[in-house]
Amino acid sequence: MVSPNVLQPKSPDMNWLGAYFQPSLLAAKPYKIDAPQGITIKLDQNESPWDWPAPLKDKILASLKTKEWNRYPESMAASLSETLAQYVGVRPECLITSPGSNHLIALIFDALGRKLPGKVVIARPSFALFESHCHYAGIPFETWDLDENLNYRRDRLPQLPDGSLVVFASPNNPTGTGLPKAEFRALLLEFPKVMWLADEAYYEFDDEPYTELLSEFSNLLILRTLSKTMGAAGVRLGYAIGSPELISLLTKLRLPYLLNHFTMEAARVMLTDPEMKEFVARNIENARRERERVFKALQGISCHNMQVINSKANFLLMRWPDQADTDRVYNGLKAHGILLRNVSGGPGLKGCLRVSIGTAEENDAFLQAMRRL
Ligand code: PMP
Repeated sequence: MVSPNVLQPKSPDMNWLGAYFQPSLLAAKPYKIDAPQGITIKLDQNESPWDWPAPLKDKILASLKTKEWNRYPESMAASLSETLAQYVGVRPECLITSPGSNHLIALIFDALGRKLPGKVVIARPSFALFESHCHYAGIPFETWDLDENLNYRRDRLPQLPDGSLVVFASPNNPTGTGLPKAEFRALLLEFPKVMWLADEAYYEFDDEPYTELLSEFSNLLILRTLSKTMGAAGVRLGYAIGSPELISLLTKLRLPYLLNHFTMEAARVMLTDPEMKEFVARNIENARRERERVFKALQGISCHNMQVINSKANFLLMRWPDQADTDRVYNGLKAHGILLRNVSGGPGLKGCLRVSIGTAEENDAFLQAMRRL
């Protein structure tokens, strides 16, 4: 109940104020995630199932206490870029940081997508934010549709004039499929005047990172995050890697002071502390081992003609021919306190649910609930 003392802004006349906004923004649905109410097993956001060790949190908090909170943080987070550069194995000039890679996706679309000589092309189905940001920003795009098995195929690319921008993820969210490095290399060779943005949010769960392609090709930007393998979704740190020339242009568009004291300090510890190395290694090992186990177990469950897609990431995609079955499974699991991501409303994802790989116990509870549905 809103108190009568709370100020009520006057409702605008959208007949003329609506013209200030892109028609595609007015028509678009807001980015929405189901709130995890009554949920005991959260398998909806591809997070690490483990929180950070308490002594490490204490160490970060102690270090944060010594900072001057009345002062701005480093404007471009240069010290963190140096630490990150060492971790990635590049020079700091090849990196741009932001609070989560979401933010860099928006920045790159806004920087490159608006006045292209060619077209913007987005993989579909892929990370929902690629398409939604273009809708919000009024950036027209075409799609690179995956095949019936949700794999990338060269012959499914739309015609690509020079000066186009292609955006895709590998391993791809939510399909878990990927574009093998050799195939990507062939595309970079075939289209030397097309810019490729490869989102590698899940690269450590697979064996084929694209990093070394940067020494051969300059028409490539790679996007990464600490939110998945590094188990740091709450820390909010993403980064892009590319040539110093491209990165310095993007950096002009990066607002100063984007990263606060907490993000920078927590990320520094994450990237340098030996204890965190073990923590990350466990996340990766658990996801790789458990996704194979859950994949095999799901194949043995005949839940209304369910199909399971094998994955190179820390999640699996399940698909039902009948959307009513999808909704029944989603709601049935929710009633058991297990939250999956219902991606079935997204383009090319009819009948699909995505399950993140949790701890062995969480995965067991999920499988047990699936067998009963
Ligand atoms: N890219 C992909 C492919 C993702 O799946 C996600 C998170 N779901 C992100 C980027 C965004 O990650 P963050 O903003 O947490 O760095």
